[in-house]
Amino acid sequence: MLDVKRIESLRHAAVAPVLHVIDGTSRPSRDGATSEVISPLDGRAMAVMAWGTAADAEDAIAAARRAFEDGRWSGLPPAERKRIMLRWAALIEAQALDLAVLGVRNNGTEIGMALKAEPLSAAATIRYYAEAVDKIFGEIAPTGDDVLGLVHRAPVGVVGAIVPWNFPLMIGAWKLGPALAAGNTVVLKPAETASLTLVRIAELALEAGMPAGVLNVVLGEGKVVGEAMSLSPEIDVLVFTGSGGVGRRLLENAAKSNLKRVYLELGGKSPNIVFADAPSLDEAVKVSAMGIFRNSGQVCVAGSRLLVERSIHDEFVARLVRATEAMKVGDPLDPATAAGAVNSLAQLEQNLRFVAEARAMGRAIATGGGRVLEATGGYYMAPTIVTGVNPADSLAQAEVFGPVLAVMPFDTEDEAVAIANGTDYGLAAAVWTTSLSRAHRMVRRLRAGIVHVNTYGGSDLTVPLGGVKQSGNGHDKSLHAFDKYLDLKSAWIRL
Ligand code: NAD
Repeated sequence: MLDVKRIESLRHAAVAPVLHVIDGTSRPSRDGATSEVISPLDGRAMAVMAWGTAADAEDAIAAARRAFEDGRWSGLPPAERKRIMLRWAALIEAQALDLAVLGVRNNGTEIGMALKAEPLSAAATIRYYAEAVDKIFGEIAPTGDDVLGLVHRAPVGVVGAIVPWNFPLMIGAWKLGPALAAGNTVVLKPAETASLTLVRIAELALEAGMPAGVLNVVLGEGKVVGEAMSLSPEIDVLVFTGSGGVGRRLLENAAKSNLKRVYLELGGKSPNIVFADAPSLDEAVKVSAMGIFRNSGQVCVAGSRLLVERSIHDEFVARLVRATEAMKVGDPLDPATAAGAVNSLAQLEQNLRFVAEARAMGRAIATGGGRVLEATGGYYMAPTIVTGVNPADSLAQAEVFGPVLAVMPFDTEDEAVAIANGTDYGLAAAVWTTSLSRAHRMVRRLRAGIVHVNTYGGSDLTVPLGGVKQSGNGHDKSLHAFDKYLDLKSAWIRL
């Protein structure tokens, strides 16, 4: 149960100026620059934050480098790093609701989901990797008797992490958990429009006993701070979640600088495929609506293309429209809200451009299509269903990252697979069917990092998340995530 009184008391609470966390201290930008933080709930300034330049990024990178090289973190026994990280997770958990409300005011996600998906998920992720780190062993190679071949797993050094605004704590923790547990030091750059909670948890890491310089947070624009990180010769690995355009730029900058390894978690245009033999159309309708419209569609794995077998298409769409229109859109701090605010005015305008284009092409808007609650000053959009979309339309090819669903009918399994695989992306997919054989066939045939069967979303930490094709090249979550942050190092010892 959400503590509504507490939420209301925090709704307009003053937020102290938000500073960088560099080398164990909270500090302003070197040039003193700041930026207003605009809340998507009402379009008003809710805080002021430091606005960094390349000089601030370089300070943070230098602090992380010093902290790595002197072994103040990597040199601790793993069990000691674990102890500090478990304390950190407990501090995050103890402040979960306050962190969730601050995050919602900053990025617009509905509070029920934000509490679970943000601070509580971040605490669980940090705990998961902390608990794992003293259970990772090296290897002894099967050599002849005259040598001993050892395979060590060594931290890579300084990790740069650049994260988006849709789930800053969850995605941030997916990077910080394994990177820090493995003994690396980190420079983290949050998204411009969702920085506040990440600064808070970095402060909590210090409180938990993490040494200065191990986790640094630099605020500011991607093309300034993020650019400096991607060009830095002192960052060994860059992990990124965000758009494909920025991902390309990071690869270019890695090539121009020190060939740092770059791991990308990018966008998607994920197909949600409903066959006529779905086990329960009611369940498929309910879950499909949430699969696209929660967090106003600002979810990398959102089921933004709905493919429905033609024999049930009209009935399914009619039911989906009813379920969608029953969703409460608006104030994300109201626990009854199912879809909160769009993160920024720029994102809202982009969503509306996609709808206008579909309309101009003669596609049908079955529900929604416009901005709502404009008088609040906030950025709200009605969940929108567009039918009769052609698989070649930009609405079927490009990621909107908003509450806009493109619906297409299909006749055969082969046609569904062709449409589903017919984009540049390959992040997530779902299949609704009672046929066990078809379910397994589809899992094999769909090109995606995760295929859901008779559900949408909801995987936990035990399985990896990553894309294929232009959805990315690395994996967050699960023990596989350690691979990005640990180098294999061999020792060949003559006996
Ligand atoms: P974005 O690419 O605009 O920004 C992501 C981050 O990159 C931000 O911190 C931003 O400041 C930074 N950045 C921007 N320009 C930069 C530059 N030139 N150099 C370095 N850093 C730069 O993406 P966004 O709008 O914040 O997030 C939405 C995107 O993220 C969507 O495409 C979504 O699908 C994707 N996403 C993917 C996953 C996943 O796990 N695959 C999860 C969530 C979001």
